[in-house]
Amino acid sequence: MIIVMKATATEEQIDHVIRRVQELGFTPHVSRGVERTIIGVVGDERGLARSNFEVLDGVERVMRVLHPFKMASREWKEEDTVIHINGVTIGGGGLTIIAGPCSVESRSQLLETAHAVKEAGAHMLRGGAYKPRTSPYSFQGLGLKGLEILAEAREEYGLPVVTEVMSPDLVTLVAEYADMLQIGARNMQNFALLHAVGKIQRPVLLKRGMMSTIEELLMSAEYILSNGNMQVAVCERGIRTFEKYTRNTTDINAIPALKQLTHLPVIGDPSHGTGRWDLVRPVARAMVAAGADGLIIEVHPRPEEALSDGAQSLRPENFARLVQEVKAIWEALHAEVAALGQE
Ligand code: PEP
Ligand code: MN
Repeated sequence: MIIVMKATATEEQIDHVIRRVQELGFTPHVSRGVERTIIGVVGDERGLARSNFEVLDGVERVMRVLHPFKMASREWKEEDTVIHINGVTIGGGGLTIIAGPCSVESRSQLLETAHAVKEAGAHMLRGGAYKPRTSPYSFQGLGLKGLEILAEAREEYGLPVVTEVMSPDLVTLVAEYADMLQIGARNMQNFALLHAVGKIQRPVLLKRGMMSTIEELLMSAEYILSNGNMQVAVCERGIRTFEKYTRNTTDINAIPALKQLTHLPVIGDPSHGTGRWDLVRPVARAMVAAGADGLIIEVHPRPEEALSDGAQSLRPENFARLVQEVKAIWEALHAEVAALGQE
């Protein structure tokens, strides 16, 4: 439920509504906009009547949020959430490019890749230290050593780092080294993990499960938000369909649908979305044209030697071309939108 205060509401009236929400056993979530204050009511509100608040002074209207996700919805918060990470922003109209290898394999591999992606125009560095692999015999990641290498690359190249965390007991450790925590597709509904990242103040990149709906993705984001961490970006990384030619099927619909439904930034992952390096650039272009706030791209200096996801990893020169292309599309789109706005 959302309580919209009048533009003329006084601080006492706002405080009174907040107290009433608490008395009824709910948690108030206050957003102070330029024009007016909105108070969200967090909790199981099925037995709660709108009239509890409609009668209070200073209240303009009380609305039920139609979606099962509340804090993630545009109704709850109309303006885009902008995540700030050491000088880089995600959301709010820009285009943020995150790039790096699937896995951190060695110090030299990561530093070489970080240098290349920085030169090509990436804003953030990715790389897995803890890897969720289908086979227990596949490379599982360097663990703590991988985190240390990521932190070194961040210092060397000034690129904030995003890396995956797979279990609640590792959240504090990974957050010590990383600027943004990735929740992988396989863990999108690991509720203990969602709770744990919700309790800390580190931005989260939440990937869509390969068999999850858009609504389920936003319900998982809701777990993080409702635990107190508002800095969440959601990521479309392809879903499973009957199609076997590609590793996953990029659900391009999800990008504009998510932009409609949520204020959270939307990131596209054409690497996992296709699983084939030769399809990554065109699908990246489509994602930006569809309105993505950013992209996450796997890059490896020698994909044939990669310990994971080599088939979908771009060589640095190919990545550099991708950056030029998506920037051109983003600029054309924004010039077009600006021109239409002036008519
Ligand atoms: C990854 O980013 O390398 C990864 C494992 O992604 P996903 O969870 O989307 O499969
Ligand atoms: Mn990968």
